[in-house]
Amino acid sequence: MRIDVVTIFPGYLAPLDEALVGRARRAGLLDVRVHDLRRWATGVHKAVDDSPYGGGPGMLMTAPVWGAALDEVTGSGDGVPRLLVPTPAGAPLTQHRAAQWATESWLVLACGRYEGIDARVLEDARRRMPVEEVSLGDYVLAGGEVAALVVVEAVSRLVPGVLGNPASAELDSFAEGTGGLLEAPAYTRPEQWRDLDVPDVLRGGNHAVVDRWRRDRSLERTAAVRPDLLDALVARHGADAFD
Ligand code: SAM
Repeated sequence: MRIDVVTIFPGYLAPLDEALVGRARRAGLLDVRVHDLRRWATGVHKAVDDSPYGGGPGMLMTAPVWGAALDEVTGSGDGVPRLLVPTPAGAPLTQHRAAQWATESWLVLACGRYEGIDARVLEDARRRMPVEEVSLGDYVLAGGEVAALVVVEAVSRLVPGVLGNPASAELDSFAEGTGGLLEAPAYTRPEQWRDLDVPDVLRGGNHAVVDRWRRDRSLERTAAVRPDLLDALVARHGADAFD
């Protein structure tokens, strides 16, 4: 999979050389390219922003700079990429969306700064490629770089071959294997630590009993902090949801 990230702070994306994503890049499973938006800025000051029409505080990133960048980046490969634009005004990032994007061959991420990007940039891009706006949550970050890191990591671990054991993603929180619920608490050696023991059931070796225990803990945990996920499970499966 190819992933291009366009930003005015390329150094912010340095963590993409580390850990799982870094290893996947070195193994040739991911082709990640980070571009400095200022390369497409013109003028002495290489400005990428200007004040908004209609007034108001802050600055907006301009259409000519983003337009030139996206024309070149999205025109530099085979086929048409999916353009992902981090913004608090986007639909929330979910495991389901990450899994869909993991099936794409090419993603481009456009990182906004200041008060965001001139709206015509996305309007224009939609004439040539699929475009999705994506939010990390109901809060406002200073820029799209952190969101790009999150999207790249969430998507990458679902790309075949990136995780050593693909079954671990299938049983993660929000995944099909857990019915879209939160994962049960997990334990490893030692059996006793301080005055706390690993639950007996996990040491008994009865897989059916372990599965039932994990399912019950998953339901409890989800009901406590994310009842919306339980509602979604019931909407999908009705009364069978708790079998
Ligand atoms: N004026 C914008 C608004 O109210 O929707 C906020 C702009 S924010 C200060 C600058 C940039 O940070 C955005 O263009 C976007 O790239 C990024 N950003 C901020 N919050 C985000 C969030 N919750 N999810 C994804 N990206 C976010």
